[in-house]
Amino acid sequence: MASKSAHDDPFTCPRSVLCKSEAGKTGDWRSSRPEIDLKKCIPSKSGKHACHLCWMYCPEGIVKRSIPVEIDYDYCKGCGICAEECPAKAIEMVKERVD
Ligand code: SF4
Ligand code: SF4
Repeated sequence: MASKSAHDDPFTCPRSVLCKSEAGKTGDWRSSRPEIDLKKCIPSKSGKHACHLCWMYCPEGIVKRSIPVEIDYDYCKGCGICAEECPAKAIEMVKERVD
């Protein structure tokens, strides 16, 4: 029988379906959100898969490894790790708007 890894466990895998459930939604407490400047983002401007460090490091697993790169704001916690890790300085943390 194959051994179990952390990613087989639906309660610990950051990209599990359970993480993207109603209970995992962020709500309205987030103070800032990451915004991607697609003119600076390497895969978004080149049209080729490259970099994707924001996808790799996001602890919530909610950055889409797509072209252009997308963030699911329903689940983003605003931790800022993606902005810290982006080698192109394409992600800026901006204050949440209070409407
Ligand atoms: S880390 Fe920065 S450059 Fe790399 S894919 Fe994410 S936003 Fe684009
Ligand atoms: S701010 Fe944190 S939770 Fe939101 S996309 Fe970036 S790394 Fe993920």
